[in-house]
Amino acid sequence: MTAQFRDAGTEQAFRVSILRKVQEDSWLTLIVAAAGMAMFGISDYGFLGLAREFYLLLGIRATLIATCLALAIVLRSSDALLTRPWLLSVAPALIATGSLALIAIRPETLSTQLIAVVVVVMAFYLFSPILLWGMIGTSLYLGIGFLLGAWHWGGLPWETLRSYGLLLIMANVVGYVVARRLARLQRQQFELLNEERRSKQRLLEEVGRREALEKRLRIMADTDELTGLANRRSFLQRARTAFDTERSGERPFSLCMIDLDNFKAINDRWGHACGDRVLREVAAICLRVFREGDAVGRFGGEEFVAALPGADMDEARRIAERLRAAIAGLRLDGALAEMRATVTVGLAEVRPLESGLEPALKRADAALYQGKRSGRNIVLEDIVPDAE
Ligand code: GH3
Ligand code: MG
Ligand code: MG
Repeated sequence: MTAQFRDAGTEQAFRVSILRKVQEDSWLTLIVAAAGMAMFGISDYGFLGLAREFYLLLGIRATLIATCLALAIVLRSSDALLTRPWLLSVAPALIATGSLALIAIRPETLSTQLIAVVVVVMAFYLFSPILLWGMIGTSLYLGIGFLLGAWHWGGLPWETLRSYGLLLIMANVVGYVVARRLARLQRQQFELLNEERRSKQRLLEEVGRREALEKRLRIMADTDELTGLANRRSFLQRARTAFDTERSGERPFSLCMIDLDNFKAINDRWGHACGDRVLREVAAICLRVFREGDAVGRFGGEEFVAALPGADMDEARRIAERLRAAIAGLRLDGALAEMRATVTVGLAEVRPLESGLEPALKRADAALYQGKRSGRNIVLEDIVPDAE
């Protein structure tokens, strides 16, 4: 009947959403009604002069105008409409009462009053998106009151009263149908808006989930599962980026290849799980020994690699020596207390005319294998001559 939402919570949310608009509409309506009532006071004076009835009407009009203005201010400056929507029908009910008083005092204005009543009835309905029942009641009160007043004070014949009655019924029916459609449309619009908001929210959540997943996949694709270090591909990417940045500043750049000595024997003697543990320990030592801006990765198997931007061969040697000593001093607990691990390290510094890392990687690798041949647990540097 009133096109309201069945769910009280949804209806309340709808009312909150249109509160500002209803406040503005009722403010405008009340001000226009007050101005209209003041204007008709002039016509009272024209008809009645300064007679007793004029003062009586003036009193009624002044009360109504004051009530309308007070209501306009209250409704605009507070959220009272949310908890007391019936406030919306206070002014129309008062105006209706005032109109009845007008008929009693000035029955000769009945035809003008009829037009005013029809307009007021339509206005009631149109401005009642949240209070259709209240407006129906007030319109009926005004219409029936007008007819009774016209009969009692105006002494109108039955035929005229019947035509007036039909006109008022029509005004009420049209007003109600329009108001109901409006109320329904407003609520449909509210629902669509809500649905759109919910879809947007779902979309944002989905985007967030996908971004998080993408980030996780990227991390997984870049990381060596066992040690948590960068894998070969990711290491090379980082090292190349660091190299491009460093080289534009003409600073030195060194590479460090690290290979565990006789690791197969460690696996054979202590088991694969122990081998894995050693690889993890070596990775942790690498992270401690190398500096913040260095790129460290697991190159494959039991081989690690590091790029040292800004480090020349002397500095690279010092760092690699620290690393070698730290790994040689590694002691595991429990059953693995006897286990000893060592590494051989090959170093190379990128030469001035080299534009990529590959030649230096090759030289570091060659140095590493030279180290293996010369007995392991050692740091050896670039052995390929410049003229290569
Ligand atoms: P060298 O001193 O000459 O480097 O001898 P090595 O035994 O270390 O070298 P080799 O290439 O013969 O053997 C490497 C071993 O490393 C063989 C392989 O089983 C082991 N290995 C490679 N990846 C892993 C891993 O992820 N976990 C374990 N536990 N062992 C691995
Ligand atoms: Mg090895
Ligand atoms: Mg190896």
